[in-house]
Amino acid sequence: MPAIALEKKHLLYINGEWIEPVSQQFYDVINPATGEAISKGSYGDDRDTEKAIDAAYKAFKPWSKTPAVERSKYLVRLYELLLENEEEFAHTISKEMGKPLREARTEVKSAADYILWNAEEAKRSYGDVIPSPMASKRLQTIKQPVGPVAAITPWNFPLSMVTRKISPALAAGCTVVFKPDSQTPGCATLFFKLAEQANLPKGVLNLVTGNSSKIGDQLLEDPRIRKLTFTGSTEVGKLLMQKAANQVKSVSMELGGHAPFIVFEDANLERAVEGVVASKFRNSGQTCICTNRIYVQESIKDKFLVLLKEKVEQLVIGNGLHESVDFGPLANAGGLTKVKDQVKDALDKGATLITGGKECTISGYENGLFYAPTVIADVDETMIVAYEETFGPLAPVFTFKTEEEVIERANDSVYGLASYFFTNDLSRSIRVAEALQYGMVGVNDALITSVQGPFGGVKESGIGREGGPDSLNEFLETKFISTGI
Ligand code: NAP
Repeated sequence: MPAIALEKKHLLYINGEWIEPVSQQFYDVINPATGEAISKGSYGDDRDTEKAIDAAYKAFKPWSKTPAVERSKYLVRLYELLLENEEEFAHTISKEMGKPLREARTEVKSAADYILWNAEEAKRSYGDVIPSPMASKRLQTIKQPVGPVAAITPWNFPLSMVTRKISPALAAGCTVVFKPDSQTPGCATLFFKLAEQANLPKGVLNLVTGNSSKIGDQLLEDPRIRKLTFTGSTEVGKLLMQKAANQVKSVSMELGGHAPFIVFEDANLERAVEGVVASKFRNSGQTCICTNRIYVQESIKDKFLVLLKEKVEQLVIGNGLHESVDFGPLANAGGLTKVKDQVKDALDKGATLITGGKECTISGYENGLFYAPTVIADVDETMIVAYEETFGPLAPVFTFKTEEEVIERANDSVYGLASYFFTNDLSRSIRVAEALQYGMVGVNDALITSVQGPFGGVKESGIGREGGPDSLNEFLETKFISTGI
């Protein structure tokens, strides 16, 4: 197969054809490390979306009837093609949203792993035979695909979010209309080129980019779309849920987070500090499971801050395309402003700056959106960072006295996605893991995402799970069949 390459102009992919948007309009895609326009995205709208829904609807019947083993083979081919093109994807991720190449390569592998996992799961969407209460009846359930699906994703994992949604949908027998974030159309376009190379039947996968509210409204108003799978902010997620309610469409929502990271005095401090750095500063703090509140037991606060400052100041900041870089720019100007505002608010209210706290200028990249990895101490619940998602490189350190107190404070959030704690006390590890009101808990583990584990949140962090044994179920309905004999 020919290797794929990022083009200067990204088209829409509808019913197996690359087409220009009806509006004939395009917008600039900006590299946040340089401030330069690197390509043009299609500014599609409701008219393109309607065409994409037509195609997905038409393709649904034959695709849902294709045996699961055959659907699985298409996915395995996609998995192989993705790994063959790892470098092109890694460079595109870094150019479009600033992630260091090392992290971008990890994302490509993880994106591929989701495809393989769901290719395997496709073959195992078993129903049940239920013991009947009557001799004259037989009871069973079968699993059937929910229907054509709308999928909308953010820019922070511009490839793995694509495969996390598309691969279980295809595995389950659904067709898809996919809308990536406007900032990262190139990653999605490259992936759709692979779908073309894998000879996926026309209309099974359709790509629309552009005016998000017009595209979203069309997807939610059309009764042929039976499910929305969304990853993004809680604010937009709530809006989409309200619109989906009009037709009682099924929804899966992967929304914002505000992860607590608790360090007990009995923890291995070195490992805990490494964990904080990994979970806070990966992707420049722009992951939904990034640590947003660090709670350190009072007796170890000073030692912890010395170690954390030392590790944070070792991070190499720069254009993610350079191999030596650990920490890239923020992906957009709005994100940079949010971090600056939260730092100012905390310092104005009495927090202490330990390191960072300012934008940085990188020689040769004066237009890049760089903000120094920042640690602040003496943080309290009056500060914005204590309750609003930062989505940037700000590590606020709170202190606590007792286990009971810290659990209460950690749970005092509208969010419930990821949480972390470090301890060497076995009983405490069980007690605290059970008490934290979060969809995911890392116990002495700060990098918790794996294709084998169910990823998702409770409270305002969302509904549903991606990955693990639950991922296919999000795209299947259970049908009950009662047969009289
Ligand atoms: P966002 O503003 O909610 O955008 C996410 C997606 O929704 C983008 O594709 C965006 O398109 C689209 N969108 C925005 N308004 C829309 C509308 N009215 N109708 C239809 N689509 C619409 O999120 P973000 O700020 O870019 O991403 C960061 C957020 O995502 C954070 O809160 C983060 O925690 C969350 N996130 C959650 C998870 C998880 O698994 N729980 C994973 C990653 C990120 P345009 O950008 O093109 O307008």
